[in-house]
Amino acid sequence: MSESRILLYYRFTPVADPTAVMLWQRTLCKSLGLRGRIIISRHGINGTVGGALASVKTYIRRTREYPGFHDMEFKWSAGSAEDFPKLSVKVRDEIVTFGAADDLEVDEHGVVGGGVHLSPTQVNDLVAQRGDEVVFFDGRNAMEAAIGRFRNAVVPDATTTRDFLAELDSGRYDELKDRPVVTYCTGGVRCEVLSKLMLDRGFGEIYQLDGGIVRYGEQFGDAGLWEGSLYVFDRRMHVEFSEDAAQIGHCIHCGEPTNTYRNCINGDCRDMVLICDDCVADPSTAHCGRQECREYASTAAAAVNGSTITSG
Ligand SMILES: [Zn+2]
Ligand SMILES: [Zn+2]
Repeated sequence: MSESRILLYYRFTPVADPTAVMLWQRTLCKSLGLRGRIIISRHGINGTVGGALASVKTYIRRTREYPGFHDMEFKWSAGSAEDFPKLSVKVRDEIVTFGAADDLEVDEHGVVGGGVHLSPTQVNDLVAQRGDEVVFFDGRNAMEAAIGRFRNAVVPDATTTRDFLAELDSGRYDELKDRPVVTYCTGGVRCEVLSKLMLDRGFGEIYQLDGGIVRYGEQFGDAGLWEGSLYVFDRRMHVEFSEDAAQIGHCIHCGEPTNTYRNCINGDCRDMVLICDDCVADPSTAHCGRQECREYASTAAAAVNGSTITSG
């Protein structure tokens, strides 16, 4: 089997013609057999693609030929094109959808007026110096944070990135406005926007974890301030940084630790929920918890038990 990799990358930079960049990227990825998801806006590019090692190397070299992307960093991880259902390359208003396209200004250095970038080591130093005063603020959806987060992190009540503006404006986090806040997300892209939105709303001391959880995990594994699994938006679902990773998620049925999201047994239900191996193996507890799905599961369980008796 030939070697393959997944790349994670973004760059905030003015893109004069997003459609032209989209068509170029789509053609490039197709020619290299890459799959994944790339979003381009007038503010930059955000992507994750997988493919053969030689192909992703070529992809990086060719993508950096675009002037605004020449110094873009690429994070590597294990995986392949098969971890993605298809190739999707699109133009959108935002490369991460906060619903704040008009609040964002970018120049050749990135987001204008964003938070202070801290390397993983600098984040540890900040916490060592200022202790519990420092607050980690999760820039991801609550579902992602449920299986892994920084120690004592604040996790906003967000189902999608679009929920953050309302969360910030709710007043719920106003007590953090005079504390040092470290925003973090998977690869760093969401915090670029989140930090700017927080600074605009009167948060006084905003830092952002450069390279996101991915880079922090590469450097410190499970021996630093990170706890649990990293949720990822591809077939892998979650990754761990070492064999020592804590399981901080819990099965919604029995409470046992788990880091695996499952589809509800009801095929019409789109919910993904944390269910442990034992509970998912039993049809009566393979549901998401909603009443109609609970009833669906009971019926399914009765059918299975009925067939067991018949065959027995
Ligand atoms: Zn369980
Ligand atoms: Zn359900």
